[in-house]
Amino acid sequence: MDATAPHVIVGAGLAGAQAARTLREEGYQGPLVLIGEEDELPYERPPLSKGYLLGKDPREKIYVHPAAWYQEQRIDLRPGTSVTGLDPAAHRLTLADGSTLDYARLLLTTGAAPRRLPVPGAALDGVHHLRRVEESDRLRTLFRTARRIAVIGAGWIGLEVTAAARAAGVEVTVLEAAELPLLRVLGREVAEVFAQLHRENGVELRFGVQVTEILGADGAVTGVQLADGAVVPAEAVLVGIGVRPNTALAEQAGLAVADGISTDEQLRSSDPDVFAAGDVARAHHPLYGRAIRVEHWANAVHQPRAAARAMLGQEVAYDRVPYFFTDQYDLGMEYTGYVEPDGYDRVVFRGDVAGREFIAFWTAGGRVLAGMNVNIWDVTDPIRELVRSGRVVDLDRLADPDVPLGEL
Ligand code: NAP
Repeated sequence: MDATAPHVIVGAGLAGAQAARTLREEGYQGPLVLIGEEDELPYERPPLSKGYLLGKDPREKIYVHPAAWYQEQRIDLRPGTSVTGLDPAAHRLTLADGSTLDYARLLLTTGAAPRRLPVPGAALDGVHHLRRVEESDRLRTLFRTARRIAVIGAGWIGLEVTAAARAAGVEVTVLEAAELPLLRVLGREVAEVFAQLHRENGVELRFGVQVTEILGADGAVTGVQLADGAVVPAEAVLVGIGVRPNTALAEQAGLAVADGISTDEQLRSSDPDVFAAGDVARAHHPLYGRAIRVEHWANAVHQPRAAARAMLGQEVAYDRVPYFFTDQYDLGMEYTGYVEPDGYDRVVFRGDVAGREFIAFWTAGGRVLAGMNVNIWDVTDPIRELVRSGRVVDLDRLADPDVPLGEL
């Protein structure tokens, strides 16, 4: 490692900005470069499908730090810059303009990119994705004039955008390949709650459908063709069918990649001077005893801070329990834990499910794997403790709202 070369972070989203901040907070005074492909200051993405899309949050609110902060911190922020090559042996990056940049230690926070629908018509102008702020701006503009849209994929993006569209008075048909929304993450019991929520808000939900074409006329979207022959009329389409981690640079460099950049619990890749964090990292998680990749905001807040400390030679083991949240209509929820599809044997509800004020616990052999509090607040600490402890609990008491969670 050349100690005079800068530490470099590739990927200037929330994860990259968090890592840069931590390097400075932990006393690193040397040169620090933060490179981002988007021509924007690092920003947070949750508002893009919630408050910002609804027009409630102003633009300034999405930025992680104001522009002046990067100067004050002597962080060489380079937005609008693509990194095209990585040579770990030489500790060297190649940029799109052909120039090179040597690094002492490198952190990859390159994030993920929306999957594209592989059907005819998917490149029409009225087909939207949502990852970047300009895509949220485009949707906001669309909602001012559109009467009817189709949303393909009932995942987090699809459902949050649907709720925002309904708030703007737009008719929405949701088209999902699975039998229920969010089925893979939540399982049948809780997925039903989200299906009911959207139905009550006037959304047409179609499950178990295959989209075969986006129909258009004169370049504009007119509808969605389904495999069963039905046509769903729509003036625009939002595609929210998941993301792929941006691993091209790591792969080209010969780093170990397996649906994400493989790292140990210190967020160190297969090269000792290259680290990865955020959506792109598949990191060994001590609590689960295996590598997991988490595509949520809280992971982009905390994991890069651990990676930054590891870059400075500190002993770290990133073992935080995953956490995420959503807001849709009048439902707000937080989810704490991690469950593989079919990784639980029973969902225990505590509270009023029909009234949407409850906590759901995913359990296996009496152990709590995850908890989701819906319209109930200030309970994530005890839920996290239940998950972390791995203790077998009495499921009847778990279901009883009169038993404080801390007593379990
Ligand atoms: P996602 O949550 O992975 O959901 C994608 C959904 O699309 C899944 O239900 C998937 O079903 C379905 N699907 C896949 N292929 C399809 C097809 N051809 N036709 C119809 N449905 C299809 O991904 P996302 O909603 O696109 O979100 C993108 C990323 O942003 C994710 O990482 C997500 O976690 C993150 N995000 C998080 C939040 C939050 O935490 N509140 C909010 C927004 C976005 P299968 O599972 O059966 O494949």
